[in-house]
Amino acid sequence: MGKSASEIAELVASGRRSAVEFAEEALDAIERSNGILNAFLSVNRDLTLEAAGRIDAMVAAGEKVGRLAGVPVALKDNMCQIGFDTTCASKILNGWSPPYSATVVQKMIAEGAVTVGKTNLDEFAMGSSTENSAFGPTRNPIDLERVPGGSSGGSAAAVAASIVPLALGSDTGGSIRQPASLTGVVGVKPTYGVVSRYGLVAFASSLDQIGPFSRTVGDSALALEVISGWDNMDSTSYDGAKFSLVSQQGVPMDGVRIGIVKEFMDGCDEEVLAAVRAAAEQLSKAGAKVDEVSIPETKLGLSAYYIIAPAEASSNLARFDGVRFGLRVEGSDIAETNVKTRTAGFGDEVKRRIMLGTYALSSGYYDAYYGKAQQVKTMIKRGFERAYRDFDALISPVSPTTAFRFGERASNPLAMYLSDVCTIPSNLAGHPAMSVPFSADSSGLPIGIQVLAPALGEELMFRIAFSIERSSGGGGFGSLDPALEEVMTGGR
Ligand code: GLN
Repeated sequence: MGKSASEIAELVASGRRSAVEFAEEALDAIERSNGILNAFLSVNRDLTLEAAGRIDAMVAAGEKVGRLAGVPVALKDNMCQIGFDTTCASKILNGWSPPYSATVVQKMIAEGAVTVGKTNLDEFAMGSSTENSAFGPTRNPIDLERVPGGSSGGSAAAVAASIVPLALGSDTGGSIRQPASLTGVVGVKPTYGVVSRYGLVAFASSLDQIGPFSRTVGDSALALEVISGWDNMDSTSYDGAKFSLVSQQGVPMDGVRIGIVKEFMDGCDEEVLAAVRAAAEQLSKAGAKVDEVSIPETKLGLSAYYIIAPAEASSNLARFDGVRFGLRVEGSDIAETNVKTRTAGFGDEVKRRIMLGTYALSSGYYDAYYGKAQQVKTMIKRGFERAYRDFDALISPVSPTTAFRFGERASNPLAMYLSDVCTIPSNLAGHPAMSVPFSADSSGLPIGIQVLAPALGEELMFRIAFSIERSSGGGGFGSLDPALEEVMTGGR
């Protein structure tokens, strides 16, 4: 297994290893694996090596390098960085290169991180398997016949395959946590507003949050400390979040009240349920008080989400009209150009969401659908608030099943949407939640445990995550698919 981000930063900062070496290792791993995994959509070798060289020069000059010095980082391809194309895995953005970098990218670079490439996703982050990418699906490094989850499947796979120690994804309804669970890595969705969305291509703006993937809880803690904080470029950014997350490792669990969310256990595979129960037992042994809790409102999460998210998407995606960005298919007038561009540029799922959202927002239906969904969103928030009177944090499955096979849910949108029943309610409430690898099923496929906390409860969430990691033995789950292992090691 590859080195962690904190190990790399220490080696580079102390001059024992160079940032260029680590960058080259990551770029080579991308080159070797991408034919099989398709985790990356683009790299910019020159820019990456140049950035790494700058870090090494700073070290040589005795200058202070940041907490992520020389750490290779991958970015989901819906985040902007100057010098890299941003496609959102859509044909409509083909060839578009952003004139600015996202705040998260600037923050990571300021701490010495070296970005190595843009990762694959479901088109515009709509999906749960990465099968909706216009550039082909990403494979699960643990079993190449299976999906890595989605929509941040490329970032999850890049970390699971040890190509990079750290990657960023975005989570609107589960797109960080579900792929993290399916590939056996850590994935975090922070409290809404804690991480700036400036430079993240918007899907559903009231739900979108950027967060880290890593193989250790400690690395995600470090990354979130780096990327969180107020940003005047994002009007929904929260002023005041100052977390101490890395320091939560080893803090005792004594007296922490943890609820297992009953509704999230319904309909899950037996092996997933067994993993959650085993994790609960370990938390009890560590001193926590674990009990079951019911939040019936969460049952309505999926229905409300599939009104709110498409509604916001239909509005956000109106900007891709063949005039300002990427693809343009000429018509006889502007209206026809618009239709032709969007017909050719968007994939089926994106079109489905635009139609759903436009319908839900249309005159006469607005109150019945969008208004109602907003009320449900408030109810879900209240349901969580009630639970948090008796519990400090919650745990649950992340995904009802382990990684599924390609094609298994691709032709049935509803089956695909059900992948996110356990993750969507946190987005609607705006609360933080994360996936921590805990065990594997009988086929060796990873199972993650979801840890949920009230708004701004990241410190406690990480304390529990560290405890789960420790009780699981740490180090991720599921061994790499032998065919991938072979190309990664070059037969060595
Ligand atoms: N799978 C969900 C969807 O398709 C969530 C996606 C996400 O979190 N970006 O909308």
